[in-house]
Amino acid sequence: MTAHDASTPTALARPRLTIDLDAVANNWRFFQSHAAAAETGAVVKADAYGLGAAQVARKLAAAGCRTFFVANAEEGAEVRAAVGAEVAIYVLDGILPGEQPLFRAHALRPVLNTDWQIDLWIHARASGPASTAALHVDTGIHRLGLTSAAMLSDADRVRAAGVDLVMSHLACAATPDHPLNAEQLARFRSIADAAVAALPGVRLSLSNSGGVLLGAPFHFDLVRPGIGLYGGQPHDHGRAAIAAAVTLEAPILQVSRIQTGDTVGYGAEHEAVAACDTATVALGYADGFLRMSGGRGYGVLAGARTPILGRVSMDLITVDVTAARPHAKPGALITFLGVDPTVDDAARAAKTANYEILTRLGPRCVRRHVGEAG
Ligand SMILES: *Cc1c(COP(=O)(O)O)cnc(C)c1O
Repeated sequence: MTAHDASTPTALARPRLTIDLDAVANNWRFFQSHAAAAETGAVVKADAYGLGAAQVARKLAAAGCRTFFVANAEEGAEVRAAVGAEVAIYVLDGILPGEQPLFRAHALRPVLNTDWQIDLWIHARASGPASTAALHVDTGIHRLGLTSAAMLSDADRVRAAGVDLVMSHLACAATPDHPLNAEQLARFRSIADAAVAALPGVRLSLSNSGGVLLGAPFHFDLVRPGIGLYGGQPHDHGRAAIAAAVTLEAPILQVSRIQTGDTVGYGAEHEAVAACDTATVALGYADGFLRMSGGRGYGVLAGARTPILGRVSMDLITVDVTAARPHAKPGALITFLGVDPTVDDAARAAKTANYEILTRLGPRCVRRHVGEAG
């Protein structure tokens, strides 16, 4: 597959990132079918995990998504510009003093994490038009969120803050049998009872991608998948029917033959135990390809695996193309993310999470979105 668009005057010696928006929409429908009794929202923070928040949000809005989550107000403004006035956009980091005009201008809903954020939003709502808000109660992740649900007994206060959603976040949803999942669910259930008593009609949300796959008791009214939309497995060692949404390819710059005892790359960390054919490709850690993949990850050329030899450099990687020798030519593209290796395969090789594989992919990659229409 040739990802390069010949009409754009761009250097050919760059990695190509192809983002399949149809795959993103299909993955969103996968969560919809798993949480059929709930609404399925979409988390598009961090530029939709590096895939492009505007393109992803537009595609998902067209597929029927009505609720988006971003990390901060600037991300929210970008999504608002992409999808128009109809959808709800919640800002997970909440609101800081001075940000009220930004929230107002883009009709953003803060996720209120602390008592002082609640006060700030009550004040904003008292002094002009302002959106509703979510209330985030910490049930065990100890990161953001109110550490007590006591304020839910103050019905006047939650109403003044315009709370229309009460949410919490799972710490261990990627590990289905972790005991904290059941503990957080039990805590959220009791909070949910208090929330519904104080605010009849308020909606409830607990689950990220991994939480959705923990089963119906975790779904409540609204689910918030992120990583699964983008092709990452929600569970460690999971095999959910999620499609690859990102393809990363890099062009071969040089093909060589090395002999037994020759070393490859900085630090001479790889030493050939037999003669082999190598290809050096235009992809490096400056493109967001993690250094930890050196000596551990692989690419795929014409269906054959091409192991990474030695260290990942800033701009270059050398792979063993012995198994695909006839196809190894300057300009040929080697796949480093896609159906094989998946983002999960790449994450295992780099000893990190699929989230980091996606969010690191940098601006030097030539980006192309496919499936934008419909
Ligand atoms: C990032 C995030 C999500 C999405 O999590 P995934 O594991 O990517 O599905 C959901 N809720 C909150 C509060 C988040 O911060």
